[in-house]
Amino acid sequence: MPELRQDSFSGDWIILSPGRATRPHELHNAVSARVPLPKETCPFEDIGFAGNGVILEAWPTAKKWKIAVIPNKYPALVHGEACAVDFRDGFYEAKTGIGVHELVITRDHKKTFADLDRDTATQLFAVFQERYRTAKDGCSAYAVAFLNYGPSVGASIWHPHYQIMATPFVPPHIVQSLHGARVYFNKHHRCLRCDLLREERKKKTRIIEENRNAIALAPYASKRPFEVRVTPKKHFPRFEDTPRAVIADVASLIQSSLRRLRKYAGDPDLNFFIHDAPFAGGDHPYHHWHAEILPNLSYLGGLEFSTGIYINVTDPDEAAKILRGKSKQ
Ligand SMILES: [Zn+2]
Ligand SMILES: [Zn+2]
Repeated sequence: MPELRQDSFSGDWIILSPGRATRPHELHNAVSARVPLPKETCPFEDIGFAGNGVILEAWPTAKKWKIAVIPNKYPALVHGEACAVDFRDGFYEAKTGIGVHELVITRDHKKTFADLDRDTATQLFAVFQERYRTAKDGCSAYAVAFLNYGPSVGASIWHPHYQIMATPFVPPHIVQSLHGARVYFNKHHRCLRCDLLREERKKKTRIIEENRNAIALAPYASKRPFEVRVTPKKHFPRFEDTPRAVIADVASLIQSSLRRLRKYAGDPDLNFFIHDAPFAGGDHPYHHWHAEILPNLSYLGGLEFSTGIYINVTDPDEAAKILRGKSKQ
């Protein structure tokens, strides 16, 4: 019997319909050739060139950089002197395309996030935090850091890189998931995500891995097969205000989850991103930031695009078991 499951935060519904193909090798597998393109054609071997000569931030130093932040050469949103301005376009409403669009590049041409050493992975997240603080310029309302891993999910350049975007409004998708958390907080005076973690840790079936400060689990209402969520155990509304020890453990669990997806789920193309509270609209004490990993292991079709309802053929309990390495493939 298929099951309809609701996301407690966004109110989104998914249809869990396991039974047909549920195991990684039976799924539509957007696995790309993981063969590095030649270094000679890589724009990120010369970041001065790729960033039009501008390097916004480098670690540990500009000369010996292991991590560098550059402006996107083809930005979707541009950072200007003024904030975005609303205007009318005849019948329609629009805004000028002001915001932030930066690239964060790690030096090694081949090492994706899963394979960075712990120090560099932690520092990468610390750089994200720093860029979030810089993006808080009074014009931006929301920022997101993300990775596109594989051409089917948006990676157009081989060399491992991450993007930071800030928008002049809070995206409706974010507003919607904040809503569920706020309603719960007003009713119970507790954080929905803290309570959810407590339940999941009691139940254990969807937990993939834990370390001192973070936990990786397969969400109850997973939209895609083998979706993973990595959450700090303690309550922190804002990513950019979270202490380094916690950031380090979240980064390390994301790395471990990516290695598990590579080993047990066929190394699918995937995105990961940080789900932070908006800059705008107060402190959002009910929000509990986290990272989401979305493998591209299913086709999106008419139902998903027309209704926002996703069909997921892999039971998250089963996905967690497989990713723990405890299931016969
Ligand atoms: Zn390169
Ligand atoms: Zn919480």
